[in-house]
Amino acid sequence: MNKDHFDIAIVGGGIIGLAQAWERAKKGQKVILFERNPQAQGASIRNFGMIWPIGQPTDSYPVALKSREIWLELSGKANFWAAPTGSLHLAYHEDEWAILNEFHALYHNKPYSIELLTPEMVSQKSAAVKTKGLFGAMFSSTEVNVDPRQAVWQMHKYLKEVLNVHIEYKTVISAVDFPRLHSGKKVWQADKIILCTGEDLETLYPEYYQSLDLVKCKLQMMRTASQPSDWSLGPNLAAGLTLLHYESFLSCPSREILKKRIENEFPEYLKRGIHVMASQTAYNELTLGDSHHYGDTILPFDDQKTNDLILQYLDSFAHFPHPEIQSFWNGTYVKKPNTKWHIGEVEPGVQAVTGVGGAGMTLSFGLADLT
Ligand SMILES: Cc1cc2nc3c(=O)[nH]c(=O)nc-3n(C[C@H](O)[C@H](O)[C@H](O)COP(=O)(O)OP(=O)(O)OC[C@H]3O[C@@H](n4cnc5c(N)ncnc54)[C@H](O)[C@@H]3O)c2cc1C
Repeated sequence: MNKDHFDIAIVGGGIIGLAQAWERAKKGQKVILFERNPQAQGASIRNFGMIWPIGQPTDSYPVALKSREIWLELSGKANFWAAPTGSLHLAYHEDEWAILNEFHALYHNKPYSIELLTPEMVSQKSAAVKTKGLFGAMFSSTEVNVDPRQAVWQMHKYLKEVLNVHIEYKTVISAVDFPRLHSGKKVWQADKIILCTGEDLETLYPEYYQSLDLVKCKLQMMRTASQPSDWSLGPNLAAGLTLLHYESFLSCPSREILKKRIENEFPEYLKRGIHVMASQTAYNELTLGDSHHYGDTILPFDDQKTNDLILQYLDSFAHFPHPEIQSFWNGTYVKKPNTKWHIGEVEPGVQAVTGVGGAGMTLSFGLADLT
């Protein structure tokens, strides 16, 4: 067999490409994956690491659950940390508590695995939560925490060393004429090509990506120093602003009331697309964020005011032994408005997987299973 001919070629070594590579390689197909950097550096290593089924509406929740199951399986096989901590949505206002009660009434039988907690029960789940003024919280048991940098890099190692995926780093695929892929003068061939190029919508098939009306979104993030080894965050934390962010809460009538209050009380938060969450890393640091800046006016510079607002809101519901911020960064994802993902045929033999927005970690393996 020609050593440069593969069953499947995947362009992009972020989580979407890795999931596609894993799905094929485990079935014994000969897979090659191309990554432009010496190691993946895109959205997949810059995120919270939250596998967040609770954010998915009922129709895509099963895909997220499938993904969750695979994440847990792979953490053992590929040797990365994964903590099935679940999540807490905290309510400090009547409207927030009303949303949680409405959501619980609608869905506690199925499909979501949720329960409502009193402030006392919340304290038992998390030492980080401030209980002053707390009405209660919704605990969901399905959320899993991974450390994205560790998980993505370990997945690369596992695919290469165990599943024999051929990975070409520092290789930009600059053109595809099916079945060939080109990088400068180098050429490879594959029976099927899958494009998982994240925010790069300009290099390959730009007209195709333009026709999808995808939107780019930049997020600002922070990470604290390590917390004491005997301290743990417990479940991932979210509060009122998050109830406006995720589509799963759209069916709650009180969401409109909350939206009006936030418009009056926190207009700056809405303007900057801020909702505030906290997750833990494998090294006991806390990942904090985030803001959302959409469209063509994305700049590489971070805005201190946005970070201050995130930390200010966080301070209203959580406290940590070591709140000092150790690192700041931003990341960009690509969203297809009004759709949860886009899987499409660019031309015969060439498929694109894109538009997963802020749920790429959550959906990645479930989507690969679907395709
Ligand atoms: C700050 C932030 C927080 C987030 N938090 C979460 C979260 O907690 N949970 C969740 O589910 N999702 C979260 N997301 C969303 C999630 O990170 C993304 O949906 C997901 O990482 C997208 O994966 P990807 O593989 O499509 O993109 P990327 O990770 O960007 O990977 C694309 C890769 O393709 C490579 N590439 C592109 N073009 C070429 C080419 N022509 N040749 C070779 N290589 C190429 C790039 O170098 C890159 O490594 C977050 C996103 C951000 C930015």
